[in-house]
Formats: sequence, C-alpha cells, structure tokens
Amino acid sequence: MDFAESDEHALLRKGMADLVKQFPREYWRQKDLAEEFPQEYWDALSKQGWLGLLVPEEYGGAGLNMYEAHIAAYEAARNGAGVPGGDLLMRTYMFGTYPIRQFGSAGLKERWLPRIAEGKAIFSIGHTEPVAGVNTFDIETFAERRAGEFVVNGQKIWMTLAHRADAILLVARTKRKEEVRDKSDGLTLFLLDTRESKIRTARLPASVMRPLGENVVYFEDTSIPEENVIGEVDRGWRYLVNVFNAERLGTASVAAGAGEYVLDLAVEYAKTRSVFGRPIGSNQAVSFPLAEIRMYLEAAKILLQKAAWRFDRGEDPSVEGNMAAYIASEAAWRAADQAVQTFGGLGFSVEMDIERYYRDLRLFKTAPVPREMVFNFISRRVLGLPRTF
Ligand SMILES: Cc1cc2nc3c(=O)[nH]c(=O)nc-3n(C[C@H](O)[C@H](O)[C@H](O)COP(=O)(O)OP(=O)(O)OC[C@H]3O[C@@H](n4cnc5c(N)ncnc54)[C@H](O)[C@@H]3O)c2cc1C
Repeated sequence: MDFAESDEHALLRKGMADLVKQFPREYWRQKDLAEEFPQEYWDALSKQGWLGLLVPEEYGGAGLNMYEAHIAAYEAARNGAGVPGGDLLMRTYMFGTYPIRQFGSAGLKERWLPRIAEGKAIFSIGHTEPVAGVNTFDIETFAERRAGEFVVNGQKIWMTLAHRADAILLVARTKRKEEVRDKSDGLTLFLLDTRESKIRTARLPASVMRPLGENVVYFEDTSIPEENVIGEVDRGWRYLVNVFNAERLGTASVAAGAGEYVLDLAVEYAKTRSVFGRPIGSNQAVSFPLAEIRMYLEAAKILLQKAAWRFDRGEDPSVEGNMAAYIASEAAWRAADQAVQTFGGLGFSVEMDIERYYRDLRLFKTAPVPREMVFNFISRRVLGLPRTF
C-alpha cells in the first residue's frame, strides 16, 4: 500500500490547476447567465492536449488511463471550472474516447480518436427517454435494420450538449420488447455522427449546467450506417454498463472537486466575516459542519482513487464507483448548502457564485444516477439483500 502520489500525477494536477485558474469565477458566472458554451476554456483544453488524454498515442493522444482522467476532471472542478467545466472533460473521456477505444471498430477509432485529440469532437449521450429514466430497459427508441444501415425513430430527453454535439452515444432498441429473451437483450449502442445522421433538437430550459444546455432530441427516420455500432448488435447493455461505470468515476470526480472548491469559499468567508466582533468561523455552529464536509470529501476522493485504480486493472469498479458517486454527491451538495448558510444573505447573491454551485451541485443527487439507485445496487450487490424491483 502506497498513498504517496507519483511525480507524474502531481504534475498532471498542477497542469490542470494552472489552466483552469486562467478562467476565474466571473468567466463561469457570465457563461451561466448567458447560457453560453465555454469556447475559450474548450480551446485551452484542446491546445494543451487535455481532450486527448485517454486517446492512444498512435491516434495523437496522451495514451493515459482512467486514473489520470479522474485526476483531470477532479482538478478542473477543484480549481474553479465547476460542474460544467468538469462535465465537459468527463463527457469527452467517458462518452467519447472510452467506448470508442475500448469497444469501437478499427474504422470508428480511425475516424474519431484523432478528432477527439484535436479538440474537434463534442459528445452527447442519449439513453434517458420521457418514458424511461433509471430503468433503461424501458426505452422505446427503435433502430430498425435495413440494408447496410439502421433507421432510428424515437425521442430522448435531457441530452446535455446535443444541440452542439459532433457525436452522440445513442442507446436504442433493436428488438421489440415482446421478442427479447431477457430484459437486457435487444439493446444496441451506436455512435451517431451528427454530420451524416439527421436529428432534431429542442432546448430544455434548466437550472443546472447552464453553459452546456439540455435538450429533447427527436429521431425521425434517422439513418445510422451499420459500421457505427459500438460492440455488438442487441448486446449493447454489456457495453453500456461499462460506460456507466466510467461515468460514475467522472461524475464523482467532478462532484468531489467542485465540492472542495465551494467548501474553500465558505471557509475563507468564515475566516474573514466578522459578526459580534469576531470571525463567524470561531462559532462551532459554523465551523463543525465545514469540518465534517471536509472529511466526507476526503473519503470520496480515496474511494474514487480506488475505483479508478480497479478500472485500470481491468477489475470490476462498480462497487467503489457507485460508493464514490454517492459519497461525493452527498458531500458536494452539503458543501454547497453549508456555503449558502455560511455566507448568510450573500449566499443568494449571483455575484458571490455560491447560488450557482448550490444549483449545479444538487444535480448529482439525482443525475446521472439517483441516490436511490446506488442504495438499490449496494443493498443487492454488497449486502446480498433481495432485489426490490
Ligand atoms: C441536468 C441533467 C442532465 C442530464 N444529462 C443527461 C444526458 O446527457 N443523457 C441522458 O441520457 N440523460 C441525462 N440526464 C437524465 C438523467 O440521467 C435522469 O434524469 C436520471 O437517470 C433519472 O431518470 P428520470 O429523471 O427519468 O427519473 P425516474 O426514472 O422517473 O425516477 C424518478 C425518481 O424515482 C426514483 N426511483 C425510481 N425507481 C425506484 C426504485 N425502484 N427504488 C427507489 N427509487 C426509485 C428515482 O431514483 C428518482 O429519484 C440528465 C438529467 C439532468 C437533470
């Protein structure tokens, strides 16, 4: 057992921290208010090679792994890029590079991995539907096989960044529900290229991750070439589970990093704001919750490191990944909530940025994986309790 960080990892942390510090709180506040894509941040990530971190070297990337990907997403959020800035990295790594490099055909790799490394590929993922949220097996979007292609009809909801996406990782049904052997049968994962496959998007106004933007997406006889299948037709679930495991790592990294950042803001304010002639942080009612949150955030970070380590060893990371996602999301949410309390009335001022973190960090208790689904998973998988559904 060795908890000492390698020089390479320390350098990686510093590199991301230095980059993100070029984009102060005002930058993210304006992007949030204007609901505008953080193009300058994206360009900086691209220029310094961060978007190609998971891309193998032969395709122009850094050829690193999940451990390093989680460090990059964590440090981006930890140093002020917040939930939208961390999510941008997370989705590039987990919904773009990872499924392509792990399960994609040689053709898909040739086509996409160099583009990712060059910062020319924004990814979205589409699994949630109006009729199917946590229960992916209920999806209705159908991809019908025709000569050399699939023709997709259906609707997805809550697709972050779909309106700007170059590629969409799409989950669709390729067998009718009545035909399947078991509920995981008959789902297929596609990489939809928005330049060649027509989709229609409608913005879904939302209070979180406003620089990125949410969408309803309509697939109306959308044709996807056969070669864009990721993994195998009808067996998409086994690939999607791996993407969800990667996503757990990504969102836990962003939550833990953003939680630390907003906690720092609260601690700094508690040291400097004087009421009754002394800093408010000298009251244990103010300091104890901050101390407690710091401990939970540390626990989340250690769980995350273990989950990422297991991922890179090819072991099943789902237990630690789900635990990390839960602990990080709870701790980060508490950090934002306690920051509002610490700032008093100023916690609600847009110019203090605390309310922005409060909105954004509430997300992870609900999406991408609601806390109830983590409890269901841990009850069954770790405690051996009966299935509840
Ligand atoms: C800002 C935002 C961005 C998102 N981005 C994307 C994206 O890019 N792509 C995408 O595909 N999706 C995205 N989502 C969707 C997200 O993954 C879903 O909202 C989430 O999975 C929950 O699904 P749902 O909203 O349909 O809730 P439902 O499935 O309707 O569930 C509602 C509530 O009931 C609870 N519940 C249901 N069944 C049980 C049970 N058996 N036991 C206990 N509790 C239960 C759930 O935990 C949840 O709290 C996003 C959502 C948001 C809000």
